[in-house]
Amino acid sequence: MSLAFTLLFALFVGLAIGSFLNVLIVRIPKGENIAFPPSHCPACGNALKWWHNIPLLSWIALRGRCAYCQSPISTLYPAVELLTGLLFATVALKTGLNADWFVTSLIFALLLALSVIDFEYYAVPDSLNLTALALALLTPLFLFGWDMATGSPHPFDHYQSMLVTRFEDAAVMAASFFALGLLVKLAIKKDALGEADIIIAGTMGAMLGFPLVLVAIYIAALLAIVPALFARNHMVPFVPFLAMGTWVAYIFDEPILHWWSSLYA
Ligand SMILES: [Zn+2]
Repeated sequence: MSLAFTLLFALFVGLAIGSFLNVLIVRIPKGENIAFPPSHCPACGNALKWWHNIPLLSWIALRGRCAYCQSPISTLYPAVELLTGLLFATVALKTGLNADWFVTSLIFALLLALSVIDFEYYAVPDSLNLTALALALLTPLFLFGWDMATGSPHPFDHYQSMLVTRFEDAAVMAASFFALGLLVKLAIKKDALGEADIIIAGTMGAMLGFPLVLVAIYIAALLAIVPALFARNHMVPFVPFLAMGTWVAYIFDEPILHWWSSLYA
């Protein structure tokens, strides 16, 4: 399979998942059902035809306006679709097209949805957050495969040790964030790290493992400093930065680990 085909296929799957992600982003914070009613224009209420709903292309063809009432459609929709497409494509660069690619990309897609919701509502729905954590913990269960060296399926031990490592790393990260949150609360009498951040720290620990997850947190903190300085009294949503740090650490794991080991050489 050529690289171009892999990337295009991953991009298209990501665009389609991104379209569904928009439904989650719009409906979950309002407590609406995610399956019914079918997609409709929030301004005029007309149900969308399937050709109004093609990821990215429909928004471009309609020039960002509703086909019925011409009211503008938020650029958030095509942006989420494009970003999800790019997430699926970049993860495919690391994994190729397989179960690992799909599950890992799906976790990144959920982190993107959580980021957008955190940005808009300053609140993160547990349903999506815990789904991401569960997928990150249980990823090894989706990776049934053959050991190329022996030509037989991997023994269960293979998955068991991966599962144990993921649970351990998630627990250490979640406990660290919980402790850090308590310390900050004692120091400045304000809630700095919420329950949502603790769950995401667990997801990051499970996905990345040590020491990559520490680099991801560091990148997230660096990226969050500038908006935190500008916002002053406003809250700065931290979830988008945690998600960005996770992506950077996941994609650039090799140079990061190389640099890390050089510190101790
Ligand atoms: Zn309309």
